[in-house]
Amino acid sequence: MTIFDEVESAVQSYARSFPCIFNRAKNEFLYDEAGNEYLDFLAGAGTLNYGHNNDLFKARLLEYVMADGITHGLDLHTKAKGEFLESFNERILKPRGLDFVMQFTGPTGTNAVEAALKLARNVTGRENVISFTNGFHGVSLGALATTGNSHHRGAAGVSLSGSSRMPYDGYLGDGVDTTAYLDKVLGDSSSGIDLPAAVIVETVQGEGGINAASTEWLQQLESVCRKYDVLLIVDDVQAGCGRTGTFFSFEESGIKPDIVTMSKSLGGYGLPFAMVLIKPELDQWKPGEHNGTFRGNNFAFITAKAAIDEYWADDRFAKDIKRKGEYIEQRLDEMAAAYGDGNFSTRGRGMFRGINCVDGELAAKITHKAFTNGLMIETSGADDQVVKILCPLIITDANLKKGLDILAAAIRDICAKEAEMPEETDYFDNVQHVEPELISLAS
Ligand code: PMP
Repeated sequence: MTIFDEVESAVQSYARSFPCIFNRAKNEFLYDEAGNEYLDFLAGAGTLNYGHNNDLFKARLLEYVMADGITHGLDLHTKAKGEFLESFNERILKPRGLDFVMQFTGPTGTNAVEAALKLARNVTGRENVISFTNGFHGVSLGALATTGNSHHRGAAGVSLSGSSRMPYDGYLGDGVDTTAYLDKVLGDSSSGIDLPAAVIVETVQGEGGINAASTEWLQQLESVCRKYDVLLIVDDVQAGCGRTGTFFSFEESGIKPDIVTMSKSLGGYGLPFAMVLIKPELDQWKPGEHNGTFRGNNFAFITAKAAIDEYWADDRFAKDIKRKGEYIEQRLDEMAAAYGDGNFSTRGRGMFRGINCVDGELAAKITHKAFTNGLMIETSGADDQVVKILCPLIITDANLKKGLDILAAAIRDICAKEAEMPEETDYFDNVQHVEPELISLAS
């Protein structure tokens, strides 16, 4: 029995899928105590977009630590915070024509969501918040009320109130525009749906199974919000920081949310860090009204600024994400076509992609098999039926190919086994895929 079995809580989750003791990590790789190397297609559930222990951020962080820079400062003005605010404003907000003030909350995604919901309710004086089927916004009570997953909701222990669920894009089939339904119920005083303070939405639902809303749907959603004077909150905790191919996941659609929540890869180095972007006129907090001891992690200010300056000063990184995303899409399409008896499908945007294996048990067998061959990859969706590709955005082309090869081989082997067929068909003999075109990013 290991110490983890002996004294760590049963609440462990990822540790169950990957039962090793990890002790080192670099860029897109993790290493266990026995010296085994694993390609990381989980990337801290979207926290390690820039890889593990990114050399550039590490150098800045070490410099700061060695100079006795402020580690903890409540919400005091620090040089590190000031420089982050400056960089984020100049390199991210201004070039995109976005006018936001920044609120630093407690350090996790759910903390940012709680602040966003509370602010929306206070500003509008309304309680209800519209959230979507399969949405995931965190597991603290306010955020949990807007989260769809029954496994997580079931643990609340109290009734989860203050939110009405609406069908997400595609939930009722391809031909149904679910924003028309939202429009209808908000315009009907007898619909039973109270006029909400806000709508909270992920542009691509990460935990819900990599469901990507279309540009048109997001635009329609924005216009319904404007029509009824309801605030639009985009939860960019997982889809933000480049994952979909642009810094914010909503950029392609051109919508302008009122509030945006961010965390995960925002700190760059995997340090706990969360932020809410608020339209200035909505920033109606009274001093200290929403507080917390760990608001604004100074180490993360250093690494977050380094990430923005290094990767977002121009559009090279964004272009590279799109290029790699297209390659992933092509490879997954090939896998879906080759296996699953025509039932598998692919989904996602940019480097936020998945392959829907329909059956959660089958998906689990695939990810387990991949792990035995050195690839860490997880599932998501209501039944964990979607194998989720979430590798670091900085992954090399060779390692991206290697990881997808391992995944393809795992799908091939498991599907062959399920069909009780001899494992003689060789995936690589049957499909041709284009090698990713090498573009090197000057560092
Ligand atoms: N929002 C989204 C979209 C998320 O994916 C997550 C985490 N998976 C959260 C909020 C909650 O973040 P955290 O786990 O850091 O509280």
